[in-house]
Amino acid sequence: MSRKTTISLIKCDVGSLAGHHVVPEPLFDIAEKNLKKAKEEGLINSYYVFNAGDDLQLLMVHERGESNPEIHKVAWDTFQEAAKKALELKLYGAGQDLLKTAFSGNVRGMGPGVAEMEIEERGSDPIVVFAADKTSAGGFNLPLFRIFADPMSTAGLVIDPDMAGGFKFEVLDTIENKKIVLKCPEEIYELIALIGTVQRYVVSRVWRARDDLICAVGSVTRLSKIAGKYIGKDDPVMIVRAQHGLPALGEILVPFMHSYLVEGWMRGSHWGPLMPVGIKNAKCTVFDGPPRIVALGFQVANGKIASGNDGKPMMADLFDDPAFDMARREAVEYASMLRRMGEFEPARLGVEEMEYTTLPQILEKLKEHFKPA
Ligand SMILES: [Mg+2]
Repeated sequence: MSRKTTISLIKCDVGSLAGHHVVPEPLFDIAEKNLKKAKEEGLINSYYVFNAGDDLQLLMVHERGESNPEIHKVAWDTFQEAAKKALELKLYGAGQDLLKTAFSGNVRGMGPGVAEMEIEERGSDPIVVFAADKTSAGGFNLPLFRIFADPMSTAGLVIDPDMAGGFKFEVLDTIENKKIVLKCPEEIYELIALIGTVQRYVVSRVWRARDDLICAVGSVTRLSKIAGKYIGKDDPVMIVRAQHGLPALGEILVPFMHSYLVEGWMRGSHWGPLMPVGIKNAKCTVFDGPPRIVALGFQVANGKIASGNDGKPMMADLFDDPAFDMARREAVEYASMLRRMGEFEPARLGVEEMEYTTLPQILEKLKEHFKPA
């Protein structure tokens, strides 16, 4: 029996520098300090702290399984402490994603986003951690479809006998709070029928069909649905395993060679182009965007993130590469086209999504001035 290792990626916007722009150093320091302590206490085996725009990302590798209260508490306490610091510094949106005050054993439903995966380690276990800012979980539907179901994108679906039989997708209906599992290639059209509706149906998990090997896990939260009003977009994260009978690293990245539109961007109220960037550019500027995504590559080995000679986890900053220059250029071009349309749909989200924003307050004021036509 191989070793069981858990990868937990928990993230939260606890306050940012100069608007909804970037996580500042003092908050990173708190995260580093707390995760270092958790490692010294033997709670976790490895960690990596990073950011995607204004979201503080805690990647933790341990052997305590998914939804472990102690692991979640480390994250919760870290976000609380960082939010307190953000408040002191009068950073923007201090503690904005922390919707509850008392911790109840699991950060799900309390504001932070979570992607967790318990795996049996293979001979070698490469993973890619994706984190996006200024968008929501449905923004991962398209690349997940391409990676695990589109034979025109993932060559392995056609030529790797270990992938024969395809992959199973768990799709969450975020409105009715129900889920369904669809198997590709048999149910590929039905899958597209569902997950093409990115604002409602979201891919939450993917397994290899022939042996139920877990391949991908995404965070699915609707902060607006939890809080009942707009309080920042539920910027998503996901973990994807690569190689050895799963899509190769390059097959996981190829869907990001072109930009595509996602919901989010300014005030979580617009369609905007997703821009793959290296960590150094994981910060939102123009119209609070364009929405950014980072991809970090790691090796999971013996219950840890494989580390270098200095003892630090080895991280590959995968979008920090000229191969994604075209997508970045496309993102700027699409951004410019959409912004020329200002507040006219479809640049702005449809009326149903705008319900969770401050727009209804504006419309309310006009109500009494309407006369029968
Ligand atoms: Mg954010």
